[in-house]
Amino acid sequence: MAHELPPLPYPYDALEPYIDEQTMRLHHDIHHAGYVKGLNTAEQKLAEARKAGDFALVKHWSREAAFHGSGHLLHSIFWPNMTAADRAKAEPSGALADAIKRDFGSFDAFKAQFIAASGAVEGSGWGILAYRPTDESLVILTAEKHQNLTQWGVVPLLVLDVWEHAYYLKYQNRRGEYVQNFFNIINWDDVAGRYRDARS
Ligand code: MN
Repeated sequence: MAHELPPLPYPYDALEPYIDEQTMRLHHDIHHAGYVKGLNTAEQKLAEARKAGDFALVKHWSREAAFHGSGHLLHSIFWPNMTAADRAKAEPSGALADAIKRDFGSFDAFKAQFIAASGAVEGSGWGILAYRPTDESLVILTAEKHQNLTQWGVVPLLVLDVWEHAYYLKYQNRRGEYVQNFFNIINWDDVAGRYRDARS
């Protein structure tokens, strides 16, 4: 079954002034749509290879599937991870807040590490708050591109796109400012729901 581009859960201009409408249109309609298309193509080519018993290009299509599949998965979390600034809470509450305090010391310490780690990604990539089921803890990861430096088995809860296409129109080279402003539009209810689901 083919993968489909999920619609944005809010209007294109909902995240103004922190993320501008034009960036959202390009990012969702062009970039994310491209990952969906690329994943479908890669999976179709792998299915054809299995049918034909010809795996001459398996390395290429496996890489394509990992690249586009990771892009599709992370963007599908990124959009609902955000909400309009007038609806966003400054901090999470409940079990997620307790776990952040337990594993990072405080919300402010978590926020400082998340901002520093996201700002320090070399080239294109992501900042990621994830749940690690093996010891039931929260960890902050970064990814270069989509598919590198992953920790297998974690469940991403909060993801921040730090590819230039996510912020360059509005922020140019000021990634740090974009990362700071992300905290004005985080949908903590969405993040807490993902944390609850990951543990159940
Ligand atoms: Mn992106």
